[in-house]
Amino acid sequence: MKTIGVIGAGQMGAGIAQVAAQAGYRVLLSDVSIEQAEKGKAGIAKRLARAVDKEQVGAAEADAARDRIEPQREHAAFAEAHIVIEAATERESIKRTIFAEVGKMMQPDAILASNTSSIPITRLAQAAPDPARFMGVHFFNPVPVMKPIELIRGLATSDATVATVEAFAQSLGKIVVHANDAPGFIVNRVLLPMLNEAIFALGEGVATVRDIDAAVSLGLNHPMGPLTLADFIGLDTCLEIARVLHEGTGDPKFRPAPLLIKYVEAGWLGRKTGRGFYDYSGPEPVPTR
Ligand code: NAD
Repeated sequence: MKTIGVIGAGQMGAGIAQVAAQAGYRVLLSDVSIEQAEKGKAGIAKRLARAVDKEQVGAAEADAARDRIEPQREHAAFAEAHIVIEAATERESIKRTIFAEVGKMMQPDAILASNTSSIPITRLAQAAPDPARFMGVHFFNPVPVMKPIELIRGLATSDATVATVEAFAQSLGKIVVHANDAPGFIVNRVLLPMLNEAIFALGEGVATVRDIDAAVSLGLNHPMGPLTLADFIGLDTCLEIARVLHEGTGDPKFRPAPLLIKYVEAGWLGRKTGRGFYDYSGPEPVPTR
C-alpha cells in the first residue's frame, strides 16, 4: 500500500496528508478547488520548514515529504489510492456527496475512511461504495503532534478493513484505540460537554473568557482552557459535534449552548477565521468577552 487519498485540505486533512507523506506514502490531496488543495499543501510546506529550522526533521526528508503530496483538481486520480481518508467539513450531506463522487473512482479493493468527529459510521457507510470497506479513523488536532487515533467500525465493516487501517495508523507512529460506533465515540463524548458547558457559563455571565480558561486550565491541570480549545478545534466543528451528540442520544444534556450557535452564525469560528472567543488578529490572542 503506497498511495493515500485525502479529501479536505483544512486543519485535519492537511495534518493527515503531512504525517502520511512523512511516513513515506504518496498523498493525493483534494478540496473544493485545486486552489484550496494547493493552499493546504503550502501550509504543510511551511510547517515542515519550521520543523527543519527547529532541527526536528532533516531538510532532505522534509523536501521529500512535501514532494510526495500531490494536490488534485479532480477525484479521478483517487483511482490510484489504496486508502482514501475523508476529512472535509463536519456536515453529513457534504460527506455523503463526496462518498458518492469518489466512490465511483475507487478501486474495488480500496478502503474509504472518514475522519468525522461524531457522525455515526454505520449511517455514513450507507453512502460509501461498500460498507464492508468503510470505517471511521479519527485523528486528533494537530495531527503531527497528537498520538492517538480512534478507529471506529460500522456494523458492516470487515475485519480485513480494520486490520489494514490499523496497520496504516501504526505505520504513522500513532497509538490506536478502538471505539464502538456511538455518538462522539470516546473523546468527543467526554470532551464536548465540557466545552459546551464553558460556553454556557460564558453566555450566562458566570465569568469572562480569560477567567473561565484560567480557572479550568489551572484548576484541572489541563494544558489549555476550554474556550481556547474550542477556538482551536473550530466552533463550527464543535457545534456539529454537539448537535450529533444531542440528536444521536436524545439526551438534553448535550444541547448546544445558544452562544455557540450565535458565534457560528456570525462566522466567528475560532482560530481559522481569526476570531472566536479570542481575537487572533494581533501577535497574542485577546479575549473578546
Ligand atoms: P476545516 O474547516 O479546517 O477543513 C475542512 C475542509 O474541507 C475545508 O478546507 C473545506 O474547503 C473542505 N471541504 C468542504 N467541502 C468539501 C468537498 N465537498 N470536497 C472536498 N473538500 C471539502 O475543518 P477540520 O477541522 O479540518 O475538520 C475536518 C474533519 O475532521 C471534520 O469531519 C471534523 O469533524 C474532523 N475532525 C476535526 C478535528 C478538529 O480538532 N478540528 C479533530 C478530529 C476530527
